[in-house]
Amino acid sequence: MSEVMIYLDHAATTPADPAVVKAMEPYHSEKFGNPSTIYKIGREVRAAIDEARDKIADFIGADSSEIIFTSCGTESDNLALIGSAFANENKGNHIIASSVEHHAVIEPLKFLARRGFEVTHVPVDEFGEVDPADIKKAITGKTILISVMHANNEIGTIQPVTEIGQIAKERGIIFHTDAVQTICSVPVNVDDIGANLLAISAHKFYGPKGVGALYVRKGTKMVAHIYGGEQERRRRAGTENVSGIIGMAKAIEVASGRMENDAVRIAMLRDKLIDGLLSKVEESHLNGHPTKRLPNNVNIAFRYVEGESMLLNLDAHGIYASTGSACSSATLEPSHVLLAIGLSHEVAHGSLRFTLGRSTTESQIETVIEKLPPVVERLRMMSPLYKR
Ligand code: PLP
Repeated sequence: MSEVMIYLDHAATTPADPAVVKAMEPYHSEKFGNPSTIYKIGREVRAAIDEARDKIADFIGADSSEIIFTSCGTESDNLALIGSAFANENKGNHIIASSVEHHAVIEPLKFLARRGFEVTHVPVDEFGEVDPADIKKAITGKTILISVMHANNEIGTIQPVTEIGQIAKERGIIFHTDAVQTICSVPVNVDDIGANLLAISAHKFYGPKGVGALYVRKGTKMVAHIYGGEQERRRRAGTENVSGIIGMAKAIEVASGRMENDAVRIAMLRDKLIDGLLSKVEESHLNGHPTKRLPNNVNIAFRYVEGESMLLNLDAHGIYASTGSACSSATLEPSHVLLAIGLSHEVAHGSLRFTLGRSTTESQIETVIEKLPPVVERLRMMSPLYKR
């Protein structure tokens, strides 16, 4: 990475680890066989995919047969929700989700609503946390599916998924959780969570882009939505992204050796950045939960300023951050997550997200603490809303 770049948008994506790139390389050239063929070079690739599947399954406490490879986190969420809703529509048509889900969950739920499913969005508190009691209250005799993300991509709040999984299990309801932001960041175990369906995406944990996985607990009914060959036990047809799958497994192997230490170091830098900015900039506050949050997430609301203007000014210093999730940062609509925690449109528009990663150093954090306050000050001076 270039020295002038301070990359603080690891929730949007991460650079592939060098060991990942190296592991993938042969599968672009000499190990090019199609894993569905029965001759030697195909069988060798099949064996490599099986090994990758075992590694990924093992990491989340699953059985290899419960892992389906997909093209990304979005596809995993779509397959989980649409696939399980249609497979279980004979039992009921009611779905419960939190109000802070990623668009990869919101949009398939909108699609299902257009197809006759009824969706209840359970609110969150001021810190973005769902109360499991509210999930329990929302359950009806027709509820077939509950979807609550493991941790929020914008404000970093970690949800009480274990309690929600328990409630779902007691009522015989399928529990889906989007673990795209937690895998390789905090421990993820499908049995502890009680998940039937769990989505992951490699590019969020120093793996390649364009590959993800969906965990599907044995016995969970789910229909496919890509039809064709027999790949992935007919649950997701299409020739596998072989190098991507190998890279994803390697990224998990790398993370399993360093995750705990990284989390401690990164959380220290996170707290330094939060304290530094909040103490230097008046009329600012932390969005998200003060303690139940991802080790790498900082989301701060700066009143009387516009997020986009702050971003452009930071960009001029080589500092890359975000105003919302990567997918919504191109729109002018305020983030639904920030509105769900009770922020006004104006304050939501003045919020910035910094997500730290392996390459983040203390001196980078100090640079942000030095550069951002004068930017906010300058922008406020130009704002008609700001009175001194
Ligand atoms: N779910 C969450 C919580 C995310 O943060 C993201 C990406 O930002 C996705 C799903 C979508 O993942 P992908 O980019 O692999 O489609």
